[in-house]
Amino acid sequence: MKHIEILIVGGGPAGLCAAISAAQSGAKVMLVERHDHLGGQLIKQTHMFFGSEKQYAGTRGIDISTILTDEIANSENIEVLNNATVLAIYEDGVITLEQNHKYIKVKPERVIIATGASEKSLAFPNNDMPGIYGAGAVQTLMNIHGVKPGHNVLMVGAGNIGLIVSYQLMQAGVNVKAILDASPKIGGYLVHASKIRRMGIPILTRHTVLKADGKDSLEHATVVELDERWQPIPGSEKEFDVDVMCVSVGLSPLSELLFQAGCEMKMVREFGGYVPLRTEHLRTTNPQIYIAGDVGGIEEASSAMVEGHLAGLAAAKSIGYEHPEFERVYVDYNEQLEALRAGHAGDHIRAGMSKALIKEASC
Ligand SMILES: Cc1cc2nc3c(=O)[nH]c(=O)nc-3n(C[C@H](O)[C@H](O)[C@H](O)COP(=O)(O)OP(=O)(O)OC[C@H]3O[C@@H](n4cnc5c(N)ncnc54)[C@H](O)[C@@H]3O)c2cc1C
Repeated sequence: MKHIEILIVGGGPAGLCAAISAAQSGAKVMLVERHDHLGGQLIKQTHMFFGSEKQYAGTRGIDISTILTDEIANSENIEVLNNATVLAIYEDGVITLEQNHKYIKVKPERVIIATGASEKSLAFPNNDMPGIYGAGAVQTLMNIHGVKPGHNVLMVGAGNIGLIVSYQLMQAGVNVKAILDASPKIGGYLVHASKIRRMGIPILTRHTVLKADGKDSLEHATVVELDERWQPIPGSEKEFDVDVMCVSVGLSPLSELLFQAGCEMKMVREFGGYVPLRTEHLRTTNPQIYIAGDVGGIEEASSAMVEGHLAGLAAAKSIGYEHPEFERVYVDYNEQLEALRAGHAGDHIRAGMSKALIKEASC
């Protein structure tokens, strides 16, 4: 069985940055990604990032992926396994993965889980009809394969993802008929919402989907207004002739491997589902296992990258590899995270963190 110092599961922004920082510290890293390319969600993101220069603000997500992937390719300490899926973590610390129909068993000293998230769905009659997609699928069709998902779209969800994907649909020449959100307020940044509204797209808050209809695929959607107790208001139904419904109602951490590894898990609403308890060094209650990115709580690529660096530094240090400038870079990444989670927009992340954080003397 192959001995590995640090195994990283997931090649999204969190996993890529974890690999870079662990390798810079001197550890030998194996980075496992189930797709044939690295980058995770970044490769679908044709829009420019906000935030600070340290997290590549002003650069498109897909270009950030190229920058990080090039850095990985130039590191002698990182071995990348693409088309490889981590299947199981056993009690004795053995991990199995599958690559090209072959099983591989490894025993890493440390594991950083950076598997990201999966999309939530909505329950309504005919929600499995062709033409009804998650926002991630619509982005994959348009931005990776260059395929328009349809002609007329109803977007369900006015968070950042719903707003950004609506804008990308319009850029692709697709008619976005309306954006709905069950909440009384738009969840996404108002700068995105204003841009959408200026293009004449109505954003209907306090509305949800009642049903979908069509012969072989989606043709109509019926939506309804909700009252203050989130109940449908009779007589408020509206009909939309659409061939695509894009459901963008949130993400859940992809945390199955953490359950398998026996990490203590907790339902944290602010983080989108079950997440592992973790120390400030991103170590879980299983001392072999660290986390970074959306798997520890739904946030953004900017914080996923910073958490990745922190987890990479801490995991490497725990097996005796200290980054040459550990103190300086560790403090700097922590300050970046604090800035990303500051202010009103970070309220729910700070609330989630207060439920998921546990104490540990040092890593
Ligand atoms: C439409 C949209 C727009 C966004 N815009 C922004 C933005 O402007 N700014 C911003 O900061 N954030 C943005 N985000 C959020 C951001 O993309 C995510 O927060 C970020 O990608 C999370 O990074 P991650 O590395 O944790 O997960 P991911 O990017 O999801 O990567 C996880 C990786 O793990 C792999 N994986 C999962 N399970 C396994 C397994 N068992 N074995 C092997 N590999 C596995 C997956 O294939 C994937 O490549 C946006 C998200 C979306 C969907």
